[in-house]
Amino acid sequence: MHNENQPLIFEMSKAGRVGYSLPELDVPEVDVASILPQPLIRQVDVELPEVAELDIMRHYTALSRRNHGVDSGFYPLGSCTMKYNPKINEAVARFPGFARVHPLQDESTVQGALEVAYDLQEHLAEITGMPAVTLQPAAGAHGEWTALMMIRAFHEANGDTERTKVLVPDSAHGTNPASATVAGFDTVTVKSNDNGLVDLEDLRSKVGSDTAALMLTNPNTLGLFEEDILEMAEIVHGVGGKLYYDGANLNAVMSKARPGDMGFDAVHLNLHKTFTGPHGGGGPGSGPVGVTEELAAFMPKPIIAKKEDRYVLDYDVPQSIGRVKPYYGNFGIYLRAYTYIRTMGPDGLKAVTEYAVLNANYMMRRLEPYFDLPYTQHCKHEFVLSGRRQKKLGVRTLDMAKRLLDFGYHPPTIYFPLNVEEGMMIEPTETESKETLDAFIEAMIQIAKEVEENPKIVQEAPHTTVIGRLDETKAARKPVLRYTKEA
Ligand SMILES: *Cc1c(COP(=O)(O)O)cnc(C)c1O
Repeated sequence: MHNENQPLIFEMSKAGRVGYSLPELDVPEVDVASILPQPLIRQVDVELPEVAELDIMRHYTALSRRNHGVDSGFYPLGSCTMKYNPKINEAVARFPGFARVHPLQDESTVQGALEVAYDLQEHLAEITGMPAVTLQPAAGAHGEWTALMMIRAFHEANGDTERTKVLVPDSAHGTNPASATVAGFDTVTVKSNDNGLVDLEDLRSKVGSDTAALMLTNPNTLGLFEEDILEMAEIVHGVGGKLYYDGANLNAVMSKARPGDMGFDAVHLNLHKTFTGPHGGGGPGSGPVGVTEELAAFMPKPIIAKKEDRYVLDYDVPQSIGRVKPYYGNFGIYLRAYTYIRTMGPDGLKAVTEYAVLNANYMMRRLEPYFDLPYTQHCKHEFVLSGRRQKKLGVRTLDMAKRLLDFGYHPPTIYFPLNVEEGMMIEPTETESKETLDAFIEAMIQIAKEVEENPKIVQEAPHTTVIGRLDETKAARKPVLRYTKEA
């Protein structure tokens, strides 16, 4: 299924056409059959499209115009903080002195790069209120796993080998139970109460001498601030467990409250969310972890440290859990986050938090008359609407999300968190103007009206995109591994 005006690249192929030019071969040609084992030699030629350079450029430029991105339009994807990535970050990341260093260069020749990494650690330590920070983890989930491995090593070093359970509230991000499982723990789900917050009674009934840690996403995935944190800290620390803070969504609390001050032992941040690393296409991320002095002994090595006036890679960390990433992590993302923190300054970062929260509350209150709002208290950086009212009229949240495409918007996260019927999780972020917020609100209101007056237009959306309603799972279940004309 594709637009007839835009052929597939395979259909553009003309035998013998090439998109490169190479000099004539001036060395003896080698027959691969003479050097490779027989089973490794391809029996039929691989079917690759044969096109000229200009055609391939036009092909991908045309495809890119059909894509959504923060640079081309509003992208209210809940829990993902799809905010604008300032272009000065890119300029700094491309400085040849940074872009051309090699990770195997001698320490003495990369003092500038190490200084940036060290300074970034210091800034993140200040922002989180944690004394020690490692930049190695390559993503949020990787940071969660790294911190859990440190917590595990801490318990084991104390001879505390029976702590097999990690508690995860049902409002946590999905990566939390996954990371706990990969780190070798059993996950125990803690229920939310009617206000969407962790149910303290349920927590009390589930902690014990087998508790390794509680992982708390805060604000939780309903966009709500967990108000009873100090009490939770008491409950978990009371049985010897550790407190882990999922700080991927620090956009809602940065420069206002610090996980370290709330009694947490470990926290991860997502530099590719809050700190404006580009975030699309599964590109490189960065999930630094901050920990208390007590857990610092178990940090991944090498540690980027300062000794007198030199920056060093310190491998002398006897209790380290080891290296969690080749080399030192995704340095290009450090540069972007560092540039962001330095250009914003402390007041700028505080303003980010305030506008992120203001924008979300503004949108939530304006949409409240048209959709169900399961949790009515003030939200933080995001909020969750329910489409159950529309469902009674035969229109599902999926239909409304598809209809938003006709208005030129990337839809919000839908059907998450799982405890909200027909959920829509919306995060506007601080970088959008009031005009943009209003235009999106108007589109949502119009869709709510269409559901009542002309549901068909919503049920059959999208109408204006190149491709209509897709089978949501077919590509994953039946991937096309080889193009054929018939496919
Ligand atoms: C995005 C997110 C994660 C996972 O981060 P990745 O970089 O995608 O692995 C974890 N927790 C929360 C709350 C998030 O929003």
